[in-house]
Amino acid sequence: MSTLAAPVSHLRENPFEVAREQLAQVADVFNLDANLVNVLGQCKKAVEVSVPTRRDNGSVSVFHGFRVTHNIARGPSKGGIRYHPDVTLDEVKALAMWMTWKCALMGIPFGGAKGGIVCNPKELSRDELERMTRRYTSEIINEIGPERDIPAPDVGTDANVMAWIFDTYSMNKGHSVLGVVTGKPITIGGSLGREEATARGALYCLREALRQQQRGFDGLTVAVQGFGNVGSYLARFLTQNGASVVAVSDSSGGLHNSSGIDIAAATAHKQETGALQGFRGADSITNEELLLVDCEVLAPCALEQVVTGENADKMKARIICEGANGPLTPAADEILEERGVLILPDILANAGGVVVSYFEWVQGLQEYFWKEDEVNAKLNDIVTRAFTQTWELSEHRSISMRMAAYGLAVQRVAEATTTRGLYP
Ligand code: NAD
Repeated sequence: MSTLAAPVSHLRENPFEVAREQLAQVADVFNLDANLVNVLGQCKKAVEVSVPTRRDNGSVSVFHGFRVTHNIARGPSKGGIRYHPDVTLDEVKALAMWMTWKCALMGIPFGGAKGGIVCNPKELSRDELERMTRRYTSEIINEIGPERDIPAPDVGTDANVMAWIFDTYSMNKGHSVLGVVTGKPITIGGSLGREEATARGALYCLREALRQQQRGFDGLTVAVQGFGNVGSYLARFLTQNGASVVAVSDSSGGLHNSSGIDIAAATAHKQETGALQGFRGADSITNEELLLVDCEVLAPCALEQVVTGENADKMKARIICEGANGPLTPAADEILEERGVLILPDILANAGGVVVSYFEWVQGLQEYFWKEDEVNAKLNDIVTRAFTQTWELSEHRSISMRMAAYGLAVQRVAEATTTRGLYP
């Protein structure tokens, strides 16, 4: 048996401490009751499990897994499952807290949760991934469920992983339980539009921000970090809408072309070779260089804490659209705010995924499925409403978009918590 050693992490600061500090700042600005802040600053439940998994060569690896529920005052908890070597309990707790705020900001009836397994999915065969996923699901089976806690995809997981979770849970219950997980393949109860939803939501959010500046996507130059679910669809939608994507990257490195990258060709290259590296239509750059390229909009769509106190003052972008969760450290946030850069915060900019996950859950419970146009139109309504509310509060109180978004969200959760009362 082997237990996997943790590699050097991408995390520079403890993300849960960052999330708690954000909450403290919001409480200060919006004058929240200290008792409530104490409640909201902790996660309701954190489960840690070991996931012994038979490898193809007959050996057994023991992976570490987590599932955390931050808060359920507004409904069952909702949040993705991450497969990545750097996953830690505190990262999962931070991501769970951000999910609570995100669902509240969007006005959908969920609390926040997150899960993860410390593993490198790229080093596992499909069979190994399936065995690990099914064992992890069994270990957390009493925590999840359509009325309780509903997982979804995140970094390193996809519709196939969701299908195995759905199947494992359903086999144990003795019948298909569509509402237990979202981001499922369409053939087994997934929602049309879910796969693209996070990027579509980011696109709508950016469209609204540009509208405030009396401009559109035409000719807009954008750099996109991360070329997975969020980054690749966002790059595609941006070019389809007339923007010029001048830089993209994945974990293998970045590409730059000041005249714009042919995103369809880069996507085909990635599908063929497994990485962006080696694509001929652009120059190679590093992920660090990508953040600093000459562009109007930067969309970090990979991992947390990529923009820091060290690189924030060198960035050229005037708008940051946070496709990823927590891509800016607090120091970077402060520098960029001072420089007047417009930051579209994670809980607003990347909420499209959880909104369409909500639609998938509703469709699954009703066993009645909607057309893709209907899904996209309802997504547009919700994201545009949240953007407008956040923008107006930000103008009215002269605070950043992040403070306005978090303020709206935390106050909604605080109100629900107060209305329900403290049990017993
Ligand atoms: P994914 O696994 O599909 O893609 C992640 C991408 O990031 C890959 O292209 C990977 O190569 C790249 N990457 C990894 N390490 C990198 C590094 N150090 N530098 C540059 N690129 C790197 O994951 P995803 O679902 O697209 O999620 C990306 C981000 O968006 C995460 O922060 C996630 O929490 C957030 N998010 C995802 C969803 C969703 O619906 N999938 C919803 C909301 C937020």
